[in-house]
Amino acid sequence: MSARLGLVAAFALAGCAPGPAPATAAPAPNGKALAMACEGRDGWSDPAPPARIHGNTYYVGTCGIAVLLIATPDGLVLLDGATEKAVPSILANIRTLGFDPKNVRYLLASHEHDDHVGGLAALQAATGARLLARREAVAALTSGTPDATDPQREIASPFAGVAVSRTVVDGEVVGLRDIALTAHATPGHTPGSTSWTWRSCEGGDCRTIAYVDSLTAISGDAYRFADHPDYVATFRATLAKVPTLPCDLLITPHPSASNLFTRLAGDARLVDADACHFYAAGAAKRLDERLAKENEAK
Ligand SMILES: [Zn+2]
Repeated sequence: MSARLGLVAAFALAGCAPGPAPATAAPAPNGKALAMACEGRDGWSDPAPPARIHGNTYYVGTCGIAVLLIATPDGLVLLDGATEKAVPSILANIRTLGFDPKNVRYLLASHEHDDHVGGLAALQAATGARLLARREAVAALTSGTPDATDPQREIASPFAGVAVSRTVVDGEVVGLRDIALTAHATPGHTPGSTSWTWRSCEGGDCRTIAYVDSLTAISGDAYRFADHPDYVATFRATLAKVPTLPCDLLITPHPSASNLFTRLAGDARLVDADACHFYAAGAAKRLDERLAKENEAK
């Protein structure tokens, strides 16, 4: 239990014992409306309506960037913050769902790039929530500047730095009553990349949701992955790890990377136990292609 955070020991229940229903005051808008609203729009800050994903887990992000809200009777957890410009629409989405942003207890993040964490400082100011992050992401989150070892260091935009309340380690469980989120270190896209898994129940239908971070090997022109064998080895370890994560329902920080809106609209399978496997396999192929290209250009 020492690695666990939270207010009560009860959150340790990682299963889905029926508890009090999430206290939504408004009916949850469906995924079709979200898919329609974002048709042809995928800007990082393009406002999108909220939608229920499954059980206590909601989409409150933009057309281009995922922000997830997990609702429990003891408070809310927000995963990622999109851009600073997107914050008003994120807060509006939380309210539309019938929740009070002041009840957000924890802010969690995927990776330390402006499109996913640029809004966290403003969200922290609006909610008073505590940001938890892996040690490898802390300096970038706090300073708003990508780490020196980040392949995108030279091209990533700076963002508003945000205070990290405490660090979490690989495998650590964070939660409130009725929700237990496990942090998974998945470095590669950035050094601090983190994926999160949790159980969500809709009636008797309980699933493990996997919010798996970006796995793309991209960089500025000056950076060659081939010059950083240790970093590539770490990246490959992540690509081998992702298919082993508990993963019934995959969500990615860029919703298009997991075809999320089409799935939420009911036009593709929302629950797919192979999704993490395919997501990692595609990324591994692209990393190999990237390395081959670098070696050709040498
Ligand atoms: Zn990124």
